[in-house]
Amino acid sequence: MVWEDGEGNLSSYLMDNRRMRTAIVSAMHEELAAVLALMPDEQKQPLAGRDFWVGHLHGHDVVAVLSRIGKVAAATTATALIERFEVDRIVFTGVAGGLAPGVEVGHVVVADGFMQHDLDASPIFPKYQVPLYGTDRFATDAKLTQQLDAAVRVALPGSRLHRGLVASGDRFVSTTGESRALQAALPEALAVEMEGAAVAQVCHDYGVPFAAVRTISDRADDEAHGDFLRFIQEVASRHSAAIVEAFLRGG
Ligand code: SAH
Repeated sequence: MVWEDGEGNLSSYLMDNRRMRTAIVSAMHEELAAVLALMPDEQKQPLAGRDFWVGHLHGHDVVAVLSRIGKVAAATTATALIERFEVDRIVFTGVAGGLAPGVEVGHVVVADGFMQHDLDASPIFPKYQVPLYGTDRFATDAKLTQQLDAAVRVALPGSRLHRGLVASGDRFVSTTGESRALQAALPEALAVEMEGAAVAQVCHDYGVPFAAVRTISDRADDEAHGDFLRFIQEVASRHSAAIVEAFLRGG
């Protein structure tokens, strides 16, 4: 049935009949490559200096893309996915530094929400608060996050899984001093990375469901750089691809 909404267009009809499109966003080349290897028919569509890979994975319409590193790059990527590729949901996979005690290398963190640890417009706004939003954090989508959590349990049954807050900022946190200072300031934050809060804010603005999973590559301490490089080569890409596969298989 074709019907018009109050504004005389066919958007409701199109929404009902268009297939759900899922964006898979990776932070690192190694992770994206492993996801692309699962897609039989991906076509490259360049936009804004990025390559968006449009195709299918386990029968789902998928757009896979590299976020690039940092909050601005990730926000641009998320905006393009929503505006130009009309994705209905965004799933982010990547690595992060463990912050809270007990969040160790190889563990997996599924984010309930994100905040920016380097945002400070005080004294006009409280420290960490995103100006004019009245909050310092954006929640991920509860249903999508639950699906992602279930996928991690299927894909990596032996892994230790944490659920909670993740802090983002434009810094690779790689000294024990900085890591301790962050832990003291943000005792709730399980992990630190450089993109999630930006994607969460864009998705909040557009009302697009968002979920994110991060495998812990380092402890954001003096050993972080070496641990990070080792982890990226050895584990990260396998983790991401396995999680994405289980997620799309499950729905
Ligand atoms: N120095 C690294 C690159 C840093 S970027 C290199 O030599 O290649 C690190 C990427 O992994 C970012 O996308 C970020 O989201 C995540 N990440 C992993 N560990 C992190 C940490 N300790 N601090 C901040 N981001 C981290």
